[in-house]
Amino acid sequence: MRVLVTGGAGFIGSAVVRHLVLNKGYEVLTVDKLTYAGTLTSLSSLDNQSNHRFLQADICDRQAIAEAFDSFRPDRVMHLAAESHVDRSITGAGDFVQTNVVGTFTMLDCARLYWQSLEGSRRDAFRFLHVSTDEVYGSLGDEGLFTETTPYDPSSPYSASKAASDHLAKAWARTYGLPVVVSNCSNNYGPHHFPEKLIPLVILNALEGKPLPVYGNGANIRDWLYVEDHARALDLIAERGAIGETYNVGGRNERRNIDVVTRICELMDIHHPQGAPHARLITYVTDRPGHDARYAIDATRLENELGWKAEEDFDSGIEKTVKWYLENRWWWEPLRHGYDGSRLGLLDPAQ
Ligand code: NAD
Repeated sequence: MRVLVTGGAGFIGSAVVRHLVLNKGYEVLTVDKLTYAGTLTSLSSLDNQSNHRFLQADICDRQAIAEAFDSFRPDRVMHLAAESHVDRSITGAGDFVQTNVVGTFTMLDCARLYWQSLEGSRRDAFRFLHVSTDEVYGSLGDEGLFTETTPYDPSSPYSASKAASDHLAKAWARTYGLPVVVSNCSNNYGPHHFPEKLIPLVILNALEGKPLPVYGNGANIRDWLYVEDHARALDLIAERGAIGETYNVGGRNERRNIDVVTRICELMDIHHPQGAPHARLITYVTDRPGHDARYAIDATRLENELGWKAEEDFDSGIEKTVKWYLENRWWWEPLRHGYDGSRLGLLDPAQ
């Protein structure tokens, strides 16, 4: 099995690549531009693996992507490359439209031409998995869950660009017959998460005695999934998902942001007692514009049709994550500079 993975130097992509190379023994080509969010140190455990190759390329670069298809000749594509940080999409949406929309179009169209050149069983078996987010569905009230038929209603430039990319993926399936499957997942957490995102930001700011920024009153709810559970789900969906269909992925782990931050503070008190009590560092900051109140996923289809189940519960997963950051300074320190929240105006005293 030969799998082309885009965005494989990022948070989720690197978990997918490690899973495919080490657990499945697949031949993998990672294609990644290595933006600020991508680092090959997330793939350093694969340095001696002959079944992994890396290509530095922009998914918007049609020639580079077409050449990657022609030379690697994948059986499957798992497309994760994206601009992924909501706050950045609010201060500069251009990169999000370029990579998430134009880049996805380029991937789909190069995949289409390559797939049309295949014959027989190789053509029948080819799959293109487009990886997306539950944020395309907008915000939930106090009740209910996102299902695969929830109408799209994105709030941020990030989620709007991902929604556009989902529509392109479905259109390439309906119009050209490209065997596309789409997955929409809730918030991920775990090792190798870029230091600007909420959970690593809180762990590292707590470690350094800096303010722990919480938007609004901290009541926004996210449905957290351990990244390795997501990687297994994506492998399964790429392998057995029905063509042209969507699978929602979620951990049934709804938590208010303030409760996540408070739990991290309690774990830091145990594992880094020098700074205790870390909860004293919690700082409420002006809410993000267009901040969705609640996301929660109904993963019944994935569980029933494909037999997937989240294995990591939030309490053990968050403790593993805190310990990983405390033990792997070598990974995050070079990425950390400037990402304490103040860079994006989160801690601007004028707010
Ligand atoms: P990430 O920001 O950690 O990684 C993105 C990767 O894509 C980086 O390695 C970056 O270098 C690469 N990249 C960016 N632009 C590129 C381009 N133009 N060409 C080639 N490579 C490029 O993101 P992530 O959190 O790992 O998310 C991966 C995917 O999963 C994204 O499509 C995202 O929308 C989706 N997703 C993320 C979450 C989450 O909680 N993080 C949840 C659901 C879905």
